[in-house]
Amino acid sequence: VKAIGKPERSVVTTCAYCGVGCTFRAEMRGEQLVRMVPWKDGKANRGHSCVKGRFAWGYAQHQERILKPMIRETIDQPWREVSWDEALGYAAARLNAIRDTYGRNALGGITSSRCTNEETFLVQKLIRAGFGTNNVDTCARVCHSPTGYGLKTTFGTSAGTQDFDSVEHSDVILVIGANPTDGHPVFASRMKKRLRAGARLIVIDPRRTDLVRSPHIAADYHLPLRPGTNVAILTAIAHVIVTEGLADEAFIRERCDWDEYSHWAEFVAEERHSPEFLAAVNGVDAETVRGAARLFATGGNGAIYYGLGVTEHSQGSSTVMAIANLAMATGNIGRSGVGVNPLRGQNNVQGACDMGSFPHELSGYRHVSDPAARALFEAEWGVAIDPEPGLRIPNMLDAATDGTFKAIYIQGEDILQSDPDTHHVAAGLAAMDCVIVHDLFLNETANYAHVFLPGSTFLEKNGTFTNAERRIQPVRKVMEPLNGLEDWQVTQELARAIGLGWNYTHPSEIMDEIARLTPSFSGVNYDRLDAEGSLQWPVNEAAPDGSPIMHVDGFVRGKGRFVVTDYVPTDERTGPRFPLLLTTGRTLSQYNVGAQTRRTANTVWHREDLLEMHPVDAENRGLGTGDWARLASRSGETTLRVVVTDRVAPGVVYTTFHHPATQANVVTTDFSDWATNCPEYKVTAVQVAPSNGP
Ligand code: SF4
Repeated sequence: VKAIGKPERSVVTTCAYCGVGCTFRAEMRGEQLVRMVPWKDGKANRGHSCVKGRFAWGYAQHQERILKPMIRETIDQPWREVSWDEALGYAAARLNAIRDTYGRNALGGITSSRCTNEETFLVQKLIRAGFGTNNVDTCARVCHSPTGYGLKTTFGTSAGTQDFDSVEHSDVILVIGANPTDGHPVFASRMKKRLRAGARLIVIDPRRTDLVRSPHIAADYHLPLRPGTNVAILTAIAHVIVTEGLADEAFIRERCDWDEYSHWAEFVAEERHSPEFLAAVNGVDAETVRGAARLFATGGNGAIYYGLGVTEHSQGSSTVMAIANLAMATGNIGRSGVGVNPLRGQNNVQGACDMGSFPHELSGYRHVSDPAARALFEAEWGVAIDPEPGLRIPNMLDAATDGTFKAIYIQGEDILQSDPDTHHVAAGLAAMDCVIVHDLFLNETANYAHVFLPGSTFLEKNGTFTNAERRIQPVRKVMEPLNGLEDWQVTQELARAIGLGWNYTHPSEIMDEIARLTPSFSGVNYDRLDAEGSLQWPVNEAAPDGSPIMHVDGFVRGKGRFVVTDYVPTDERTGPRFPLLLTTGRTLSQYNVGAQTRRTANTVWHREDLLEMHPVDAENRGLGTGDWARLASRSGETTLRVVVTDRVAPGVVYTTFHHPATQANVVTTDFSDWATNCPEYKVTAVQVAPSNGP
């Protein structure tokens, strides 16, 4: 404090990085943010934080932020700075002309998991009520859309079942496809505290993550499976539980559909699903799998935590359902210490999904074909809602290259960097007549834009984020928006420009509308959020105080549903030309494609994406730590520096995707989850060879 001077005022708000949702006190001197102090009363963090939330806020006042709207006729022209009125009028004229010429389904948009619930709700409202189409999707398409599908199918709603406090009552913690130490650091600390106090640990991950290596924790079982074989290993675990009589039949009879359970149990009990048989597929020795299965089924309260290592596969939705099957089969649902817990990546990915960002769902996960749900929205908005689902992001891009999709409004998402098959994304964007990018920086996607609308940071707006435990938390304005408008105001002005009569004066009015239209939010309002600090949905007549734990007396869908999930190998295969499997992840000090963290001082901790290689694979190619290597797949190639480490198994290489210089997604495949099109980022057959550098 001495060095930076005494703050003149402070505002309590919510971190805009990951799905933990830590609360901070933002300390200001004049209009300058000087410090972010973790807030002791924050329900998700209790005074703790990680480096990103505490130090990585310099991007908010970074010189590269675009503060003036810009337009251009064609993407080969230079940008022209214009007033808000001119930019919005120009965008609206192009959108209206395209709708009049090609029809409403030639338009669409993408909401952002970085923005608030209120902003996200408005974007999907603009697209549904203004453009007249369900062509709305969100960046969850490329991360947790399988969670949406899998948990809705098995439990009846698309959300994690527990609050973070629940981990303090767990006896066995199973972590699959997640690296909480890097991805969700503050929650990881709570998990580690419980593990140090005696809880047992099972880690299913191709890498020896920090949880596996930590000398103070030591996983009881590490199952280093071959990338792409999650369903095979979960089926083998289920086989042991069923065939050794370890299933909780009393729970299943009371809470689940018994016939569906019987059918599933018969399936997993087949000899071809035994750990011994499947070891050849997943690469994990049978005794380790048997030990892990016995521990999970008999060790007391068993909780499952998972991340993108589960969802970003061609069997992502199947894996989520296999996890749900495992929790139900062992009776680990509906009380503290148990449950199925997706570790949401972005700060508001839960909220973006809740707010109706998918082309088939209105807010609260109600299908657009549901006449009662549509009637509610139609009465409130005074427009007809299309009963047919709209296009997902990859389908919008396909339709653009086919010439039937012409215009897109993208808020807070750099699809060129974050979506798979970069060449396909670029071709789709280049084929459109009107691309509107609403963001903080001129990102890679903006290279294909005709209109750039400057965005506001979380420090410059009011609203709410919903974290991974369904906790709705206030985001409070710390400083005035440098661009002049909060993001919800930009969307409102665009809506007005195309002819809609919106007149919100504060995000609280948007939340009131969300509450009127969304049964799980009916008890949420700003007065309560200010008084109580946060609320966990569902908050309604049945649960007036909110719901820290879900499915307590019964599943949202009634009876829990067991779904047979047969292992299907990915179409991405290794071979003589591409003998290694690449999988990807995050590192602590960087965040996603790095748009924010790369523009802060802490980038010295992780300046570039690195390629982890096992010593045997590295030696075979004459590579050592620090050497440049060419990484190539059937899709493309890039160049990275090598780190030789036994964190990865022989045959597996690993990198992060934070830096545009690397563009890891140039090499990833265009295979995707069978149910949701979530890209298969976690499995790419590659070759690695020495290189002289980029
Ligand atoms: Fe922010 Fe997540 Fe770090 Fe908390 S753990 S400070 S929410 S990035």
